[in-house]
Amino acid sequence: MQPSFNSCIKVAVRLRPKSTKEEAEKEEPVIVVDGSNIQLLTSIGETHFFTCDQCFSSDSISAVAQNKHQQQREVYEYFAKPLLSQAFQGFNTCLFAYGQTGSGKSYSMMGKIGSKSELADASGIIPRFCQDFFIHVEDLVKNYAETSVSLSIEIQISYFEIYKEQIQDLLCSTGGNLSVREHPKNGPYVVNLTKCLVTSLEEVQRWLAVGNRKRVVASTSQNKRSSRSHVIFTIVLSQRFQEIIDGRPHVVDKHSRINFIDLAGSERLASTSSTGVRREESLAINLSLFTLGKVITALAEKNFAPYRESVLTWLLKESLGGNSKTAMLATVSPRAAHVESTLSTLRYSCLVQ
Ligand code: ADP
Repeated sequence: MQPSFNSCIKVAVRLRPKSTKEEAEKEEPVIVVDGSNIQLLTSIGETHFFTCDQCFSSDSISAVAQNKHQQQREVYEYFAKPLLSQAFQGFNTCLFAYGQTGSGKSYSMMGKIGSKSELADASGIIPRFCQDFFIHVEDLVKNYAETSVSLSIEIQISYFEIYKEQIQDLLCSTGGNLSVREHPKNGPYVVNLTKCLVTSLEEVQRWLAVGNRKRVVASTSQNKRSSRSHVIFTIVLSQRFQEIIDGRPHVVDKHSRINFIDLAGSERLASTSSTGVRREESLAINLSLFTLGKVITALAEKNFAPYRESVLTWLLKESLGGNSKTAMLATVSPRAAHVESTLSTLRYSCLVQ
């Protein structure tokens, strides 16, 4: 069994509301969440208890619509907003969404992008984070304008997916697989990955729309590939503080990377019995999710972290170790038919009581 690792990272669990169709089925609930505790009843009548840092659940899709997707804001504020000021202090951060396909990873991470610098009610963590990010930049620039320190800020974004251990740029209309290299000082990077300079939420929204369109096209041509790839959206923040002290320029640079990772559906973790492409996909997903667990656990225990065992962990090397901040949102389905996947998600992410 994969060790749970919430001793070192913040873990929140989000229970997807039942769809209208699921509600009509009137199934007995198999999962009960309360504060930071979760109870799961399996098909063979066993009850499992887990604990995480915070649980989020909504009763039904109609309740979600009625309260204008308010929980999207609550999840963002609890889970991602605290990482904003840490990013400006120079820390690297990683936010993961982990769970089976259909449990709400993309809805939580991305949701609706919104447009023209406006969020939608259903906007997820990424657009909300970007909105606050640019407000923070504006405030910072204003504050420094009143001091003797000059501040310049550069913001770059990239958006790519890892499918079968290969990298596809989502912000570039052409191009095949990209390779990974390791810079002796700056660590691993994707060769020739598109990096877009951005100055507003509106620009980010446009790039996200470009990337999401490319994902949809790739997914349609390869039979719903989207649930079988990891998607990584990265903001690279570079801040330069410059001051003249005793007639000499004094420069301080701060760089931070903020990574949002919508992981491939974890239901494949157990299924390597398939054949052909499906088997290759399952093996690749197993490898990266298993290695991610090993790396996070090793970091918590101050052991050697096997970053290079998967492309995902290798690329996140500089953002997972050291003083980095990591948070994991485990998304789960309310359905009895999904209870085994839910159990595996909770085992991966939460402490067992
Ligand atoms: P995943 O990315 O894990 O495959 P999705 O995010 O696509 O799953 O969610 C599956 C469906 O459930 C989508 O139609 C999504 O809008 C809906 N959904 C998921 N979580 C929620 C939630 N918390 N509130 C409302 N709808 C949700």
